[in-house]
Amino acid sequence: MERINFNVPPYTGKEITYISQAVDKRKICGDGEFTKKCSAWIEEKTGTKKCLLTTSCTHATEMAALLADIRPGDEVIMPAYTFVSTADAFVLRGGVPVFVDIRPDTMNIDEKLIEAAVTEKTKAIVPVHYAGVGCEMDTIMDIAKRHGLMVIEDAAQGIMANYKGRPLGTFGEFGCFSFHETKNYSMGEGGALLIRDEKYVEEAEIIREKGTNRSKYFRGQIDKYTWVNYGSSYLPSDLNAAYLYAQLEVADEINHARKACWDRYYERLLPLAEKGRIELPYIPEECEHNAHMFYIKTADIEERGRLIDYLDKQNIHAVFHYVPLHTAPAGVRFGRFHGEDRYTTRESERLLRLPMYYELTVDLVAYICEKVKAFYGGPAC
Ligand SMILES: *Cc1c(COP(=O)(O)O)cnc(C)c1O
Repeated sequence: MERINFNVPPYTGKEITYISQAVDKRKICGDGEFTKKCSAWIEEKTGTKKCLLTTSCTHATEMAALLADIRPGDEVIMPAYTFVSTADAFVLRGGVPVFVDIRPDTMNIDEKLIEAAVTEKTKAIVPVHYAGVGCEMDTIMDIAKRHGLMVIEDAAQGIMANYKGRPLGTFGEFGCFSFHETKNYSMGEGGALLIRDEKYVEEAEIIREKGTNRSKYFRGQIDKYTWVNYGSSYLPSDLNAAYLYAQLEVADEINHARKACWDRYYERLLPLAEKGRIELPYIPEECEHNAHMFYIKTADIEERGRLIDYLDKQNIHAVFHYVPLHTAPAGVRFGRFHGEDRYTTRESERLLRLPMYYELTVDLVAYICEKVKAFYGGPAC
């Protein structure tokens, strides 16, 4: 059996054709034909007012922090169980990440703990939709409204997933998608900023175009473009967008294939979960997920380490991630944890991600499940 990788970047077959088209047109900088196609697709699919393709989800979040006018000392509430960029984008502006505990069932921020962490310095709440499973958005939006806070969704893993039928990334003022090669749809490195309210669109376009009004110029709305505000270069090359568009075109197919694998994992590992040997992901009734990842929870960190080694010997690459940010050197320096860390550390140490990618087959999933069962004491499990 060939080695089963943890991730294989999505590839549908049309990517090269589209990239050649961009090359033939001699139009490979930002905001070309494929960038427009991708943004239009996302706007149509999510119903967001405006989507701006970016060089990464990290950069989309940096743009959101600029648009939210985060200043030194401003507090931003988020989970510690997340990727560094969720916090880093705000730390770059002098913001202070205030970490609150997660729910052990979804690994998302515990919405019931958010309000107690609000101070007069709080500016925003940043929910992270872990594994493409929505946070409890009704509660979060209600808290934000009552305290006059902004909501910036880290929906890096959340494209094509819904909460109460509404796409993740469209609840807050800003939503941030990732198209990194580890995500469901990819352009190598890339992302998107979703803007709910029209009033931020012009400023967002300026920030993304080095502080200039070049987007207006390209649309023929002005004769000459000039430097009008602070900004940076957050737009990707059209070559990357061409790669992404090949996948967005068949997004439902990709979603379907991933879900079939996810369901097979769940079904095959259920007996082990029923015996109390492992835990399986929980999907709240309000949420429709996108099979971004399949994880299990082992008894503890020691058992997880043994299972990773065992699977590695069977040529299966399984991984864990997210050392909670409040325990990382930069997290200690720049942020603080509000309340008790009941679940963040403990649950992060038990979580193990199994292989999940577009080209994975349900048969390979069944094979992986057999190996996990073998680790826990044989096929009878
Ligand atoms: C992948 C990821 C990011 C970063 O995405 P990039 O596009 O690599 O910048 C941020 N947050 C979460 C939760 C992620 O999974």
